[in-house]
Amino acid sequence: MSEELLANPSTSSLLFDEVSKMGHEQVVFCNDPNTGLKAIIGIHNTVLGPSLGGTRMWPYKNEKSAIIDVLRLSRGMTFKAAISGLNLGGGKAVIIGDPKKGKNEAMLRRFGKFVDGLGGRYITAEDVGMSEKDMEYIAMETEHVTGLPEKLGGAGDPSPVTAYGTYMGMKAAAKKVYGSDSLEGKIVAVQGVGHVGANLVELLVKEKATVLVSDIFEEKIEPVAKEFKVQVVPSDEIMGYPMDIYAPCALGATLDDETIPNLKARIVAGAANNQLADEDIHGPLCQQHGILYAPDFLINAGGLMNVYGELMGYDREIIFSKAENIYDTTLSIFELAEKEGVHTQLAAMKLAQKRIESVGKIKLPL
Ligand code: NAD
Repeated sequence: MSEELLANPSTSSLLFDEVSKMGHEQVVFCNDPNTGLKAIIGIHNTVLGPSLGGTRMWPYKNEKSAIIDVLRLSRGMTFKAAISGLNLGGGKAVIIGDPKKGKNEAMLRRFGKFVDGLGGRYITAEDVGMSEKDMEYIAMETEHVTGLPEKLGGAGDPSPVTAYGTYMGMKAAAKKVYGSDSLEGKIVAVQGVGHVGANLVELLVKEKATVLVSDIFEEKIEPVAKEFKVQVVPSDEIMGYPMDIYAPCALGATLDDETIPNLKARIVAGAANNQLADEDIHGPLCQQHGILYAPDFLINAGGLMNVYGELMGYDREIIFSKAENIYDTTLSIFELAEKEGVHTQLAAMKLAQKRIESVGKIKLPL
């Protein structure tokens, strides 16, 4: 044990405190100096099934940020799987390093061996900073990988299913707010037109919504603007535009103390993970400002449904019909939130918690 750790014994108990508070079962530190691999696998809960979640590679500014990220992300996966009726638990992995220059075959295969060593308690997939090729290397060492490209026997890009589920969640929110789930004539602002955003735009345009789009990269905007009748707006201004529905499909934490009071939308329904900067503060703040928030982990679960389908024997039609059910689940969450007098994100978490607790006979902290 290092002198530093011995001199500061509270450091080690801090991690256990955090893990207990969030309810994690296991956290694995993967260290291989020969390849430069430094990774952390968070297994939050396996009551419903093996933990599943992508591997993210990111140049975290310190190890603490990496630990916090993996703990939060893996916990989020537990709720996402549970509320979607999938027999999966929540897990996630992070590799500390720069995805543009810090990767090599040896390191990724070593990571694959660590995943394999968990014997299926954790199943990995692609996430931020990882590519198809990287997943191919990991898959050389373990069969506990999903979300693979079609040429490797996988189901391919999950984004169209994610977009479809998000669209269903948005329609449910429209039903609640306007009394009709039609999006015709509604002004929808889609922030980020990457894999999911571009697919969502297509669905919205088909339904004759008025669509505003933004992205930080011109090359992402160009094909969307060329193919569909949409209005392109500057990425740093989109949240201030007059709109009915705000659909964040880029990064998380866009809803905070500053943005919520200025948002003109009555509905937030998008695919980005962790849209509320702090769910305990900004969930209620949306409510106070008359904004109906469609919980992100519920309406963006189409991608998880897709990779689950890959594990169970893929049938595209079944997966899309599962994603369609997001409509009903979202409506029932709005009802539950009203009945219990809580914000919608909390209502969704409570429903997920109930399923896990009834199956596992455990107490899952929220
Ligand atoms: P992506 O990387 O393909 O697209 C994200 C887009 O957002 C990019 O085009 C990027 O340039 C743009 N962007 C980044 N910052 C921006 C900003 N400040 N303003 C406007 N645009 C910005 O990612 P994706 O796969 O489309 O996923 C989008 C979001 O949905 C992510 O938060 C992701 O975690 C979440 N999500 C995706 C899936 C999936 O199936 N792909 C599933 C669940 C959740």
